[in-house]
Amino acid sequence: MGESEPKAAESGCTGAKIEGVPVQFDAILALGTNLGDRVENIEDAIRRLGSDGSIHVVARSRLYRTAPWGVTDQDWFVNGCVGVQTRLSPHDLLKHCQAVENDMGRVRTRHWGPRIIDVDILTIGDRQICEPDLVVPHPLISERAFVLAPLKDVAPSLKIGGKTLDAMLDALDAGDVVPFET
Ligand code: ATP
Ligand code: CA
Ligand code: CA
Repeated sequence: MGESEPKAAESGCTGAKIEGVPVQFDAILALGTNLGDRVENIEDAIRRLGSDGSIHVVARSRLYRTAPWGVTDQDWFVNGCVGVQTRLSPHDLLKHCQAVENDMGRVRTRHWGPRIIDVDILTIGDRQICEPDLVVPHPLISERAFVLAPLKDVAPSLKIGGKTLDAMLDALDAGDVVPFET
């Protein structure tokens, strides 16, 4: 079996218990981009996420300049997180995020390749979802400093599988994840 193209689904469902999600968030979303005007892409995505009223962005992290992860021969990223309120079901929330990606012109080339915008669901309350098209909490949070750093801005007390975000960050090289000056 080829091993060069890891698939999101293969990283699987961790079943890790999630604690400490701020009560005012129904979900936390991660945003990333490495094409064009990256900061404007994030701002545009946040506007679009809230534009039909089905979700309300109630908190946002700082934005971070980050090195590419997984597929490293590509340009640098901007990453951030938002806390949202929504009554959408998990799958409708996923569809809403994917509609924003598609409307912004995301073209899927290679896995983990360059993208104008990526919107991932990190958490939905303290729910565990293990379905082929939706795994929550997102299974790679603990391996990605570019997710953990902005996540800490909006949910500093979050724990996954009993581990704090700082404990997870300490185990990684976070040197390539740098907040923009505000
Ligand atoms: P990764 O998931 O490793 O960050 P990616 O974001 O580049 O990789 P995509 O091509 O954007 O991957 O999405 C692949 C599939 O992942 C989607 O079609 C979606 O069904 C699935 N998926 C599973 N869990 C989630 C989640 N928590 N948030 C967003 N998509 C998810
Ligand atoms: Ca992603
Ligand atoms: Ca994605």
